[in-house]
Amino acid sequence: MTSEPLASPDPLVPAYDLVLLDLDGVVYIGDHAVPHAAEALSAARDAGAGLHFVTNNASRRAPRVAERLRGFGVAATEDEVITSAQGAAALLARQLPAGATVLVVGADALVAEISDVGLRPTRSADDKPAAVVQGYGREVGWEQFVEAAVAIRRGAQWVATNLDLTLPSARGPVPGNGSLVAAVAAAVDRRPDVVVGKPEPALFRQASQRRGAARPLVVGDRLDTDIEGAVRAEMPSLLVMTGVTSPAELLAAPPHQRPSYLAEDLRGLLAPHPELRRDGERAGCGGWWAESADGAIRLTGDGERIDALRAACAIAWTTGVTELDTDSARAAGLVASWT
Ligand SMILES: [Mg+2]
Repeated sequence: MTSEPLASPDPLVPAYDLVLLDLDGVVYIGDHAVPHAAEALSAARDAGAGLHFVTNNASRRAPRVAERLRGFGVAATEDEVITSAQGAAALLARQLPAGATVLVVGADALVAEISDVGLRPTRSADDKPAAVVQGYGREVGWEQFVEAAVAIRRGAQWVATNLDLTLPSARGPVPGNGSLVAAVAAAVDRRPDVVVGKPEPALFRQASQRRGAARPLVVGDRLDTDIEGAVRAEMPSLLVMTGVTSPAELLAAPPHQRPSYLAEDLRGLLAPHPELRRDGERAGCGGWWAESADGAIRLTGDGERIDALRAACAIAWTTGVTELDTDSARAAGLVASWT
């Protein structure tokens, strides 16, 4: 069980030979590149690490994902991308005979993935599909839900690309594939048979096998998808604080959602990670000490705020005290909106 962030006397790359990267909140946020991401990834490549981009979004095919990454200044090829649509198609191709019919609830990108693995996509339950595959698509709506419900009730296997309840947008969270799957689940009174995307470990394992990695490292910004997926895949992970996770959420993380390493951003791949120190009830990192006092974590010292967060995690994950003392947290820079 992770009781404190790990130390690494050497930079994480090339000690880890393949970096499995989440996209939104790590490389870009919406339409903007995350500061330092492109330079850090370029330096990681120069240091000898492989990169692989792992996305739950089933509405864009790998070449488009790579193109989008290049638009943010990140060199990427389609061979370095795995999507949950590809993962779902690969899974169905293993389970069904060639040419079997699959009802697609989702974008044309998902239809194309199903065709590419030698299965026959359809949009109609009357084609007697052996399976239903459901992924996010802007055009998904009631008519596709009807076909899915009919096919599932007739006995088709049901595969969901992912269960993210929301998608980030400039107007805040909007319904993601998990919300659309929930609509069908309510109608058929059961859950999908298989889920492919994070936090399931399948995409990390497929990517790692495809690249022949010996020591993969998962990098993400979400505890309940990226980090939990890494734990389930039994791979070490790096949480970057450029996305959705706040210090308070990290401190309260249950054991199966605790990252191995912490960093401000992707530059954390290229740096050593400092040792945690213990002194009685206190935990120290860099210039900071953390301790539990009056039911809260109090921080003293100065230096890098990421070290204050590392020390606070060591206290929270061993004592169960997860509240931060407001004044000392503010002095250490551990504020609600980290970015
Ligand atoms: Mg993310």
